[in-house]
Amino acid sequence: MKETFFSAARRILYPARCPGCDGLLPGHISGQTFCDTCISQIRPVSGKVCLRCGKPVVSVKRDLCRDCEDADRTIIQGRSAFIYTGPMKTAMYRLKYSGRRVYAATLARQAYELRGDWLRQIGADVIVPIPMYDKKKRQRGYNQAEEFAKALSELMSVPVEADFLKRIKNTVPQKGLDRQNRQKNLKNAFKIRKSSVKFKCVLLVDDIYTTGTTIDEAARVLAEGIGCRVYSFCICVGAD
Ligand SMILES: [Zn+2]
Ligand SMILES: [Zn+2]
Repeated sequence: MKETFFSAARRILYPARCPGCDGLLPGHISGQTFCDTCISQIRPVSGKVCLRCGKPVVSVKRDLCRDCEDADRTIIQGRSAFIYTGPMKTAMYRLKYSGRRVYAATLARQAYELRGDWLRQIGADVIVPIPMYDKKKRQRGYNQAEEFAKALSELMSVPVEADFLKRIKNTVPQKGLDRQNRQKNLKNAFKIRKSSVKFKCVLLVDDIYTTGTTIDEAARVLAEGIGCRVYSFCICVGAD
């Protein structure tokens, strides 16, 4: 494809950087997203995973991860593309805190390459991102889960409803809280804005899957509110 004047100018003014190490990428290699060193360190989710949430499980004897074993899940099934480690961890940090919202499209493309089959067979009629509290979103300028959802929507040809769920509580980060307090923190955190719209199957998306408390609370609100089936998909997942 011939490069236009504007894309050449943009490439020179804003050279593409590797989301993993922030090194400059050779602009002429179209489609390259991470540098070769980072690509070799990225770990796609593989091997045995929790049948419910898709988190890798260490023991071959177990079908569910520890969190799903003790929880009454609403999501029918969840999957993620990459292990939250190495260059993916830095890429997620930059996507979230360094204003690199453009990484959402890159990551969505790579996640879709890995999990396209699973994503297509769900038969979702809408993609809903985990919403951010309004004030927080204004401060950051965007919601990374929403950016990911939009990019995924184009790849899957499934519409995205970024305002379908609203976060009505400014929750504290889940990290560091025990199970009981995580649930308490998220209780009544979400509400549906348009309960008159009846979707049958919702694909909930977020950037990182950790214990599943956030996603499952959002799923519960959706399932109880409009009686839909709910699946989840995240770019990264933490190890069990
Ligand atoms: Zn790199
Ligand atoms: Zn699980």
